[in-house]
Amino acid sequence: MTIHQNLIAGEWVGSDATRNINPSNTGDVVGEYARGSIEDTKAAIAAAKAAFPSWSRSGILERHAILRKTADEIVARKDELGRLLSREEGKTLAEGIGETVRAGQIFDFFAGECLRLAGEVLASVRPNIGVEITREPVGVIGIITPWNFPIAIPAWKIAPALCYGNTVVFKPAELVPGCSWAIVDILVRAGLPKGVLNLVMGKGSVVGQTMLDSPDVHAITFTGSTGTGKRVASASVEHNRKYQLEMGGKNPFVVLDDADLTGAVEAAVNSAFFSTGQRCTASSRVIVTEGIHDRFVAAVGERLKGVVVDDALKAGTHIGPVVDETQLKQDTDYIEIGQKEGAKLAFGGELLKRDTPGFYLQPALFTEATNDMRISREEIFGPVAAVIRVKDYEEALAIANDTSFGLSSGIATTSLKHATHFKRNAEAGMVMVNLPTAGVDFHVPFGGRKGSSHGSREQGKYANEFYTTVKTAYTLA
Ligand code: ADP
Repeated sequence: MTIHQNLIAGEWVGSDATRNINPSNTGDVVGEYARGSIEDTKAAIAAAKAAFPSWSRSGILERHAILRKTADEIVARKDELGRLLSREEGKTLAEGIGETVRAGQIFDFFAGECLRLAGEVLASVRPNIGVEITREPVGVIGIITPWNFPIAIPAWKIAPALCYGNTVVFKPAELVPGCSWAIVDILVRAGLPKGVLNLVMGKGSVVGQTMLDSPDVHAITFTGSTGTGKRVASASVEHNRKYQLEMGGKNPFVVLDDADLTGAVEAAVNSAFFSTGQRCTASSRVIVTEGIHDRFVAAVGERLKGVVVDDALKAGTHIGPVVDETQLKQDTDYIEIGQKEGAKLAFGGELLKRDTPGFYLQPALFTEATNDMRISREEIFGPVAAVIRVKDYEEALAIANDTSFGLSSGIATTSLKHATHFKRNAEAGMVMVNLPTAGVDFHVPFGGRKGSSHGSREQGKYANEFYTTVKTAYTLA
């Protein structure tokens, strides 16, 4: 098997490799990917630093053309890349292809943003002086990504970093190097100069930590666990660098008595279980008012009976496997914890056998849960959700906000009054009315508050807040 190497200073290097396993079929090795060392990471940072002066002054048309070409190739290869994504991560082929197209759209959006770099011109408060406010690139950006969106998250960090003239050291998650390698290969063939984008695959504790410890990484954008996010934060404070964190969620989905039952069930099932519940915007707390509670729970149970959990690449699969053994253990541990805490396991939760050995878990739905149980407070990151029964809208809102996280928050209602009140009062970065908590657009801000996120928003034009620094210039005319 040929090794997919790291890209450092424009050269593909590395012979020490790890294997990438298909969670739908653990006998299937997806590929071999180089395992970067501390020295490799330092060389990548040095290369990005050396490439910065020239890239930061490159023409916008050059950047536009490279990002545009990348977008086109990603979309043209959507079936192949989508298949690779589903094979290495375990989401269904439809989701894998959809995410690949999304990555293409993100590169396309930022190809456009290259041509819209703008500033402001103001009059000074002093006579005969003009003031110009412009945005400049930050420098070397460290990009650290998780396994749950193997192509979209790298795309939404790499595309704006390059668009605004930064250079990059990119470290993808250990479990899903395939899609990351593919987009770096595409970007390089699209014409990126040497050293502008460096790929260092390998362990978080080695490659990631070396990035955190380097004074030459000027900003770090991170998506992953709360624990690692805190390490990124403290190391960044130490180096006085900019940092942006997207971490966990414990997103609520509120269902009111006046909701359209079919729509609410569909949105709740999607929020909780699609993509195997492995989205930071997934909902694992379904908060239901008592007038609709029993009908809603019965309908969700019925809907789940029709959900097919199987090989991610098989036609007809709705939910693929859990990503790996460690995550599967975490999910089953929480299923046990929920039962011990006194919640009722109303549906699923059992391990499933399929034609191939994989990490298959029947989506688990708890009822009779309370918001102080661990299953309601801690992020599980799997197909496990708990229904919490409440009296009315006011109690639902209070429980929805009673969490240390604040990424996404959803409500199913036909009441304009409650929908409007919820939009204003949900303590979350994103609010969904009659929609699943997950599923966002690529051209508008993404991010949360409280323990979910730190720093400015990702995606859309708001991305420029992180990837640029503001300069104010005064001229006596
Ligand atoms: P998850 O539970 O989603 O795997 P992690 O926070 O462990 O979340 O991983 C997210 C990313 O952070 C991965 O690319 C991982 O390799 C990286 N990472 C893990 N440990 C560190 C560390 N000490 N320093 C920097 N990056 C790390």
